[in-house]
Amino acid sequence: MNQSKMNNFLSQNVSTLKGVGHKIKNLLKKKKIEKISDLLWNIPQGFTDRSNVRSLDNLEIGKITTIKVKVIKYNFPRIRNLPNKVICEDDKGKIDIVFFNSQEGYIRKILPLSSLVIISGKINYFKKKYQITNPEYIVPIHKEDYVNKIIPKYSLTEGLTEKMYRRLIDQVLIKITDTHEWHNDDILKKIGNIRWSKAIFKLHEIKENNLNSKFYRRLAYDEILANLLVLSQVRKRIRKFKKENKIFDNYLSKKIIENFNFSLTSNQVKIIEEINNDLKSDHKMFRLLQGDVGSGKTIVAFVAAANAIRSGYQVSLMAPTEILAKQHYNLAKKIFKSTDVTIEYLTSKSDYKEKKVVLENSLSGKINFLIGTHALFQKNVFFKNLGLIIIDEQHKFGVKQRIELSNKGGVNCDILLMSATPIPRSLVLAIYGDMDISKLIEKPKYRKNIITLSKPEEKLDEILFFIRKKIKEGNQIFWVCPLIEESKKLDYAAAVKKYEHLSKTFGNRVGLIHGSLDKEEKNRVLNNFLKKNIDILVSTTVIEVGIDFPDANVIIIENSNKFGLSQLHQLRGRVGRSINEGTCILLYKKNLSENAKKRIKILKSSNDGFFISEEDMKLRGFGDVLGYQQSGVKDFKLADPIKHDDLFKIAEQNIKDIEKDEKNFIKYDFLLKLFDKANIINEINSIEN
Ligand code: ADP
Ligand code: MG
Repeated sequence: MNQSKMNNFLSQNVSTLKGVGHKIKNLLKKKKIEKISDLLWNIPQGFTDRSNVRSLDNLEIGKITTIKVKVIKYNFPRIRNLPNKVICEDDKGKIDIVFFNSQEGYIRKILPLSSLVIISGKINYFKKKYQITNPEYIVPIHKEDYVNKIIPKYSLTEGLTEKMYRRLIDQVLIKITDTHEWHNDDILKKIGNIRWSKAIFKLHEIKENNLNSKFYRRLAYDEILANLLVLSQVRKRIRKFKKENKIFDNYLSKKIIENFNFSLTSNQVKIIEEINNDLKSDHKMFRLLQGDVGSGKTIVAFVAAANAIRSGYQVSLMAPTEILAKQHYNLAKKIFKSTDVTIEYLTSKSDYKEKKVVLENSLSGKINFLIGTHALFQKNVFFKNLGLIIIDEQHKFGVKQRIELSNKGGVNCDILLMSATPIPRSLVLAIYGDMDISKLIEKPKYRKNIITLSKPEEKLDEILFFIRKKIKEGNQIFWVCPLIEESKKLDYAAAVKKYEHLSKTFGNRVGLIHGSLDKEEKNRVLNNFLKKNIDILVSTTVIEVGIDFPDANVIIIENSNKFGLSQLHQLRGRVGRSINEGTCILLYKKNLSENAKKRIKILKSSNDGFFISEEDMKLRGFGDVLGYQQSGVKDFKLADPIKHDDLFKIAEQNIKDIEKDEKNFIKYDFLLKLFDKANIINEINSIEN
């Protein structure tokens, strides 16, 4: 088959394959298999060894076994719920083949009396007889080779058997021939010189899929390149977006910088410069500001906001939670206090009247700087002339969403995303290849490392002693009790209990905050904590993202093994934000697993978010760490950004060469379809601007 024929075949619906009726089609859909090519990427998860062929005097109970037998007798009871039975024999003995929920006619057809058959299944022993119940394979003797071997095991869903799946994948594999190669010789050599068709065959054949096998790597490379091709197209598209350049002097930014009680780091200054250049250019800014927790991203964003406002535009800042939005709002109020910039706050929970006024003032242009949550992007929110959107702590947008965002902002709107999620270099490209990236590496100078300790829960007394001392020195304490199961209503019970317990010792100096509190109550508690009316704040994880309490210098995390490493690092980043040293105490239950010990050790040994994230990925896999699954482009089927780091590097160079000539892209049509990227490119190209 040539490429275009193959392309057509692979993009057809699975229902065009033999044996796929309505029922199987729906079962496959459950596994997200709709097109024929989807079958290819359902990678075997191991194998079933059916090469164990035994005679009937040599059976082992519980073993998957293949037997060659003659059908000698049927036993079809006419009583409901009793299984049908077929007695078979070889020259050494007899066995019962037992069928539940089966039809007589079907059994007569697949096991004709006196015929010789191959049967494969697990051996049971029941009432002193060997039997196989609902065997996985029954084939006539001449098809022996189809069964008695090592057979790839696929991740399937109930009702879809190994055998059914194998019938399908076999129909596909048989049609796969050597297509025209899309990689040039140079690249091919670098990735192991394996042709596509061969790699596909091997993927569905090998006993255990090894990420480092030549075959696997070839296909992983294809996938990486397909991703980069998409991002390359997006980047090109974004570069085309024109806007009115912003004109401003440093009047406003200077004023707000004076309101900080510190001077900017040189790293911050440099990034502000990069952003200013973007604002002043006639291309839309599409920039990611990456920096570990506490590296000082917010301040950079406020300077950008000041400059956009100075040039006559409105700015909106979106935070992932209400509390964080409120904090940004309060900080902005403080920092812009000696200016005439009007700042407002909007969340979906803002009350109706407030909301109405805010919406009106946003539309009329009275508001210069609107801060809030997702509510900012609802249909009823309009701006007079939005010039900059800032999104804090974002790490859940896909390429397409980013473009939509840019459209929503309007023609003249620049975009600045801020993320504290430390991702390895290979992934930065694969995820943010469409954006410019600024990285805050340097932390504000005086910031000390956070001391991380671990303690068994039983040592509560020691901890109470320690925090009493810390409180006396003017510090405040976070006490985090994670939710055990997000879905359960009373899941904050542990936090309530801890709150009550601590109140016995610390009286009314303890506060409690969790997701089920209403907005007012939450704000009241947080304000009390900010104003230092309370010393200890017990919470579920709501404080995770970005909130700044300068005097909170101790964080105690219960059940710390409920969190991922990166999450723990983020949590502990909540403390030590002032001149005082921060302490993080990880509480654990006795009998830590090896893995848990490893994690604690990593945290104790490093304060570098990037290092921690990479270690976390090694332990858990990158998808889990980043929570990227939802975002489409990022969930790789084969490639692993940690283990295939070298392939990412090759692809990075490869894409630069491809970009040199638009015509080069044509070669990769097939590849893009294979990995479902063709549609994304079409969609992106159809977005207007
Ligand atoms: P993040 O990058 O986690 O959003 P923030 O912007 O919230 O970090 O900054 C963390 C803390 O560091 C804040 O209290 C902020 O005021 C402070 N900070 C930011 N920049 C500097 C600086 N140049 N010097 C001293 N402190 C700074
Ligand atoms: Mg922040």
